[in-house]
Amino acid sequence: MALLDKCEKFNLPQVAQELGLYPFYTAWQHMAADVCEVDGKSALMFGGNNYLGLAHDDRVVRAASDAALTYGSSLTGSRLLNGSLELHEELERELADFFGMPAALVFATGYQANLGVMSGLCGPDDVIFFDQYAHASLLDGARLSQSRMRMFRHNSPDSLDTALSSAEPGRKGSRLVVLDGIYSMEGDICALPELVEVARHHQATVLLDDAHGAGVLADGRGTLAHFAGRAEVDLLTLTFSKALASIGGAVFGTPSTISFLRHHARSMVFSAALSPAATAAALTALRVARQEPWRGRTALRNARTLAGELAALGYACAPATTPIIPVPMKDKVQTATVWRDLMNRGVYVNAVLPPAASARLRLSCTATQRREHLDEVVAAFAALR
Ligand code: PMP
Repeated sequence: MALLDKCEKFNLPQVAQELGLYPFYTAWQHMAADVCEVDGKSALMFGGNNYLGLAHDDRVVRAASDAALTYGSSLTGSRLLNGSLELHEELERELADFFGMPAALVFATGYQANLGVMSGLCGPDDVIFFDQYAHASLLDGARLSQSRMRMFRHNSPDSLDTALSSAEPGRKGSRLVVLDGIYSMEGDICALPELVEVARHHQATVLLDDAHGAGVLADGRGTLAHFAGRAEVDLLTLTFSKALASIGGAVFGTPSTISFLRHHARSMVFSAALSPAATAAALTALRVARQEPWRGRTALRNARTLAGELAALGYACAPATTPIIPVPMKDKVQTATVWRDLMNRGVYVNAVLPPAASARLRLSCTATQRREHLDEVVAAFAALR
């Protein structure tokens, strides 16, 4: 069989065949804060990760365009060689200060940050322990590192303890426990203090990916601050593509860890630097997040309200503790048809189909969604009941 034969035979997801519905790669013609437009029809955006509502904030957009005018559209090379700006280092200092970690290193995406930290630090003698819902970028980084991988049950300290007790690292190896601050498909918060306690008992290093918690929980300071000193981690990662209204990501650790990664993280060394516009947007969004802690609180309040009202309609939504609201669906067909009906009523949500996770719709709330936006979503769901 030739390499490309599978592409000829590739069928879109089964629902696309059966129902003529394809809930992915919707290409918007226009996009503004919380509203987007396709085929001349507008829809409320309840599928993005623009938690603080800063992706269309004048201050952030202006900072991005000023930086492009000042430094150019691209740095055309890696940070290691020609692509570093003082602006990257300014962002690293302010990130480390705000998130309470000793030092930070900025990458071109959150995916690359996770790939770089995992593959840069771990090797074949190490064992990495993952919550079963850990993000794909962390798993991909572990694969690249050729470490052994073990899964434990979601948020279960007992299951982590069993996994840590049953897998010995190689002679030169160590153990690393990998957690997400907020799980992107479940919308729940990591049981951080209990899991870190178990990890420490086994002398394991702990990495927390706070892609969804940073900027939102604890007035923006994220999952570590949410637990207010009850848990410390060795390594923290986050992305700029959610609350920080840009693109890019960061790894945090001690200065020696960061110095090591500057030379050993392949996704840093062999990939071009974060663009000036993206760097300036993330830095400005970080400063706004710091000055305007109401934003994270409002996104959380919107999610609590919306999840409560959907539950009252009979949807199986748990009380929201994060901006993410999963709405379980029976199967792929129900997910796709409800998604389409919501779209027809002017509400965009994310459709999630197996194998990514069990069938569900996933809504996310922002600081700039207003009461009337929530009312429209509730009315659309009510009409489908
Ligand atoms: N970690 C988590 C938990 C994520 O949800 C995501 C993005 N979906 C990433 C990492 C990757 O971030 P980015 O979009 O910046 O590549």
